[in-house]
Amino acid sequence: MKKMKVDVENIIECKVCGLFLEKQDEKDAYELRCPRCDTRLKLKDEHSVDSLLYAISSLMLFGLINVFPLIDLSFVGIHLQTTLIDSVITLFDSNIFLVAIIVFFTIVLMPLLNSLIIIVAFIQSRTRLRLFTKTLLYDGLHFTKSWTFMEVFILSIVVTYIKLIGMVSSTRFDVGFYILILYSVCFYMSNRKFESKSVFGE
Ligand SMILES: [Zn+2]
Repeated sequence: MKKMKVDVENIIECKVCGLFLEKQDEKDAYELRCPRCDTRLKLKDEHSVDSLLYAISSLMLFGLINVFPLIDLSFVGIHLQTTLIDSVITLFDSNIFLVAIIVFFTIVLMPLLNSLIIIVAFIQSRTRLRLFTKTLLYDGLHFTKSWTFMEVFILSIVVTYIKLIGMVSSTRFDVGFYILILYSVCFYMSNRKFESKSVFGE
């Protein structure tokens, strides 16, 4: 007896010629070629590829944030510039260890790990490399995302900036601050566009 049940999940329609194709044999393949018109059909969501690109951009921008100062101020002839990593080091030097650790954890470690997990998840989904289990990556992604408080950091810079107006001769946001905002957007988008289904499978 012929099996009547058709698994809709495994059927893809060619967007050019309308031919219905079964993707059963190509479960791990990223794309499929239509046998009739030779059109390339993407099997996995493009959103997730965007996620990868945003994660890579995030890492590069994070590097730049630590090169360019966030804020720039002059105070009775003294000129001060501070980068993200400077501010974390300052906290450690001031012996406010608890605050320093929390800041380092939520502003540096968690966001960096989050972008790395996205990249590793992609590498593992497209290659045979298996460094971590899907569960570990999936849980890690959610954990690192919920422990990233970049927006709190941005807000604290803005508050510092406002408080400094009038107290110091001149204060302004520096290049690093604008890169930081761009970074936050990329970080947010890399998580927003990440579709666990197309990367992790089920
Ligand atoms: Zn076709």
